[in-house]
Amino acid sequence: MAKVLVIGSISDLGLIGLAQKVESPEIHYLLLGSGDATQLGKYGVTKVYTLSAQVDEASLAETLVNLISTNNYSVIITPVNKYFKTTIPIAAQKTSAPVLVDVLDLKQGGNTFEVTLNGVGNRAQVTVKVTDRVFLMAPPARFKPVEKVTTVTTESLQPKAITGIKVVSTEEKPKGKVRIEDAELIVSVGRGFKKQEDLKLAFELAEVLGAEIGCSRPIAADLKWLSEDHWVGLSGHKVRPKLYMAVGISGQPQHLAGMMESKTVVVINSDPNAPFFKNCDYGVVEDLYKFVPALTKKLREILKK
Ligand SMILES: Cc1cc2nc3c(=O)[nH]c(=O)nc-3n(C[C@H](O)[C@H](O)[C@H](O)COP(=O)(O)OP(=O)(O)OC[C@H]3O[C@@H](n4cnc5c(N)ncnc54)[C@H](O)[C@@H]3O)c2cc1C
Repeated sequence: MAKVLVIGSISDLGLIGLAQKVESPEIHYLLLGSGDATQLGKYGVTKVYTLSAQVDEASLAETLVNLISTNNYSVIITPVNKYFKTTIPIAAQKTSAPVLVDVLDLKQGGNTFEVTLNGVGNRAQVTVKVTDRVFLMAPPARFKPVEKVTTVTTESLQPKAITGIKVVSTEEKPKGKVRIEDAELIVSVGRGFKKQEDLKLAFELAEVLGAEIGCSRPIAADLKWLSEDHWVGLSGHKVRPKLYMAVGISGQPQHLAGMMESKTVVVINSDPNAPFFKNCDYGVVEDLYKFVPALTKKLREILKK
């Protein structure tokens, strides 16, 4: 029986679906933030650890190293986000285990795990074999845990301070209320917008649709018109909405890597040769400054908003 540790908030419990792919797994969950631990017992989790305080990445890594060495977990699973992309490499280095990111599937044959993941900027699916311990990172919405009711025991952990690194200060960043990974509808903006104030056009469209706002890397990282909470792509958030509407985004592989699992993709771009048109369900070759306000107006009439 392989021991599996899933780490995340209560809304990341989709990852238990990945843990269940291990043969007869014993699943433990390190629950970050508040949440009803008994909910995890519906999916075969037998032990839930909670942390007595919010922790920075370095402390979580040290806490994990400790937990792994006492419990001898074979598979450790986390969501793919910036917090874990900082935490997991530290823990992996300290436990000498490999990290596989953007995992699609897992099969087990004896002591060997066969892991399939998105690779080469999402242009290929790569299957690798690993023996012994492995860290897997994946978007929680990709998996659906099977119900299997168990009795859960809980234990509160004291976060461990990392050795060799001293956190001098921590300053909370102003946080948007967006959790774009969970959004069902996304209007995403790119460099086709000429000025920050023009994003208003996308905000209005998103409001009528009840959508969240996503963006390409330059909008968040270079221009800083939106916070990183909105950033979609290889180095941003992985999203999986029912509708992804890309406005003024060229569709480079690094952007596609974050949204390829969207159900329906609509692209609005004035350049008929924009690569995004090869990766969409509906393509509109039009100037966004003309098309977006007209679409918003029409949707307002239809939806009576
Ligand atoms: C290691 C690495 C990681 C990266 N990670 C990410 C990532 O996570 N996410 C990400 O998005 N990118 C990422 N990138 C950057 C990526 O390669 C592209 O540079 C970026 O996605 C381009 O953003 P864009 O489409 O908004 O801008 P552009 O490529 O400049 O495209 C703008 C588009 O707007 C269109 N347009 C212009 N005017 C109008 C108009 N009036 N109406 C309609 N359309 C118009 C143009 O035709 C063009 O297609 C990464 C790059 C590297 C090297």
